[in-house]
Amino acid sequence: MDHFSYKNGELYAEGVPVRDIIDAVGTPFYCYSTATIQRHYKVFADSLEGLDTLVCYAMKANGNLAVLKTLGDMGAGADVVSSGEMDRALAAGIPADRIVFSGVGKTAEELSAAVDAGIMQINVESEPELEALSAIASAKDRHVTVSIRVNPDVDAKTHEKITTGKSENKFGIDIGRAREVFSHAASLPGISPVGIAMHIGSQLRDLKPFREAYENGVTLVEQLRSDGHTIDRIDLGGGLGIPYFEDEGESPPPSPEEYGTMVKAVVGNLGCKVMLEPGRVIMGNAGILVSKVVYVKQGPSRRFIILDAAMNDLIRPSFYNAHHAIMPVAEPAVDAAYEEADVVGPICESGDTFAKQRPMPPLNDGDAIAFKSAGAYGAVMSSFYNARPLVPEVLVTGDKFAVVRRRIEVSDMMAFESMPDWLEGSG
Ligand SMILES: *Cc1c(COP(=O)(O)O)cnc(C)c1O
Repeated sequence: MDHFSYKNGELYAEGVPVRDIIDAVGTPFYCYSTATIQRHYKVFADSLEGLDTLVCYAMKANGNLAVLKTLGDMGAGADVVSSGEMDRALAAGIPADRIVFSGVGKTAEELSAAVDAGIMQINVESEPELEALSAIASAKDRHVTVSIRVNPDVDAKTHEKITTGKSENKFGIDIGRAREVFSHAASLPGISPVGIAMHIGSQLRDLKPFREAYENGVTLVEQLRSDGHTIDRIDLGGGLGIPYFEDEGESPPPSPEEYGTMVKAVVGNLGCKVMLEPGRVIMGNAGILVSKVVYVKQGPSRRFIILDAAMNDLIRPSFYNAHHAIMPVAEPAVDAAYEEADVVGPICESGDTFAKQRPMPPLNDGDAIAFKSAGAYGAVMSSFYNARPLVPEVLVTGDKFAVVRRRIEVSDMMAFESMPDWLEGSG
């Protein structure tokens, strides 16, 4: 459920007409709903009621400081995958003791920064990383808490670019070798292995792979305990999917309630603190990307709706063949005649296409539309390609809105560049 809906014939974000934001900031822009973020967090956290849990929001889905603060204020921790994300989480007021650091290629500088910050846990994904972290922590005379990320070799049955729990994927330590690696970890100075972690992929639409991976995790925890280790944490990662095709009658992925019930059934009696790293399920439907039609162009065989947003602003359709529902900002008439169109951006690549042969209501130059479900893996994946400004991000609460990242202009971009001395004054 989200808070983007029609009232009096036009699209609102909570109590704010989207039209008002368009007038204030121009298009394109991302718009997030506080009530939706809060609701998603609460539904997710409530589904685990009764378990000792920490929900560490996977901020790679959307790392805007205002989004982080909104979630941090509700008690969320953060799952970070770079020291840059760690810095952002700390800057947004998420305390170090609620931060988990994941990732397969943490550099020595990043590990060192994480040790200095005293974060809750580092999820170690390989033996070389274990050695590096041990050396860094010992040199600082520190002791860091780690979990070993295992790869449970489960097929998450999701898009190939976002499946992470198969043995051929780069993530984690093969679960078959986990006991050996854990014993080695326990013998190293500077680190205390206290748990295991896993994350099998993103946009999962079925509980089965989760259940299978978590059951493998439970078995491993029992084995590690029988090896004499104290295991008091299990980190189950993120990955729960969201409905993207609701407008086309797609059956929804499992609800957070169903997911929580399964989690409780599988790990409820393990006596571990249960950590979760949801990203998309918190933010995906809490954001829209608003854009305007530049031209409607009739080709020989197709109609093109050309927008002022492009693949650099929202890359999911070109990168993952992702589907985003499109809502005109002015509500279409009940008897509007829908006609198929390709909805595209202005970039000179055929991949700059948001939707192909999508039934669309009548739209004219200057009309505004919103891509739904754009709150996760949207703004964070945007780029300056084609010297296009980075679009602003707006946060709404009730009948108020605020720009939480201003448009990053071409002049801002150029300010980072400089001429080498041999070109200065040439030509
Ligand atoms: C990406 C990622 C997540 C979040 O995945 P979602 O599908 O957005 O929930 C959680 N944990 C790790 C380690 C990740 O890499």
